[in-house]
Amino acid sequence: MIATEDIAPGQVISETKAFAMVFVASTPPLENKELVEKVLQKLLLSDKEMREKFRKLSTWHEKRPKSLPLFDWTAPFDSQDIESLRWEIQERINANRFLNNNTSPRGAGIWISEVSYLNNDCIDGNVSKMYFGDKIMLRAFKQIKKGEELTIPYTNPEETFTRKLLFKRHNFECKCRLCEFEELESPAIKAEIDECLDFIKSQMPTIKQRTLPNTIMDNFRRICELRSNSPDLNMAMITETIATLGKTLFETGHVKECIEVFQAVRKASYNPSGIKNGLFVMDKNLILAYLILMDLKNVIQAVKTYIEDLVLAYGTAEVVKRFGQYIILIFLFIIFVFWL
Ligand SMILES: [Zn+2]
Repeated sequence: MIATEDIAPGQVISETKAFAMVFVASTPPLENKELVEKVLQKLLLSDKEMREKFRKLSTWHEKRPKSLPLFDWTAPFDSQDIESLRWEIQERINANRFLNNNTSPRGAGIWISEVSYLNNDCIDGNVSKMYFGDKIMLRAFKQIKKGEELTIPYTNPEETFTRKLLFKRHNFECKCRLCEFEELESPAIKAEIDECLDFIKSQMPTIKQRTLPNTIMDNFRRICELRSNSPDLNMAMITETIATLGKTLFETGHVKECIEVFQAVRKASYNPSGIKNGLFVMDKNLILAYLILMDLKNVIQAVKTYIEDLVLAYGTAEVVKRFGQYIILIFLFIIFVFWL
């Protein structure tokens, strides 16, 4: 997908209803018969153009069972083997199903819109998606110039193993900055970083109020140093261990160190999925940490970043939702002061 015009950060690119969707209590497996049947019914009622769009969705290129004849998408559907069509549908569900985990029950569906044709970029994606029931909204995450490709991370960049597995299934090799970086980085560096992470994890219970063993921060700084040329690709910062380290430092009153950790985390994975998967927590904790230090300049900067991130990921309505209560409180306070 190529941008046909300049797109501003935060701008909504499209909003589309699912072609077919099912609502389920817990995450369904890809082989969900109900969804296959829904798609099948929808296809039988669709015109040629829509059927062609569905056919063009990517697949996992699974081996067709020998018992199934080849399905001819140009011939009338009712004269052909329906099991072959079911197999074709499943192939496309495998590669294109989206899950809306925000609703209860959860939604699993297939969209025939821009969202199904976006290419992957693990770290520099410029588009984020958001669900509203059976709708998907695409929003620009960065300034996108006319002619630039729209990309989205297919999965969380920090989950290297899941990422590689997904690419294998989609039958492609990712050449994004992160994948190239991981490919070129020496195994010795990777091993040393894993060792540092293991050490930090094992020493976490020793962090108490007043006492913070030097070795913990030394190991943390060593990880940053090993990837000092590419802090934004340092996925070690997005691990559970570092998140717990930041939280523990904050709770035990080691505010300066916790700011150091939060800032390093913030530098890594600044992309559409990263921002939704926890950077807000980081933003909020940074605001509190600077408040404790009475560093007002940085408090204001951190609040600004937090609001900017919210707008980029969810739109202005989310800012009103999250800050609405404070705005009402400030308003009431002003009225109270004037009344006195
Ligand atoms: Zn990649």
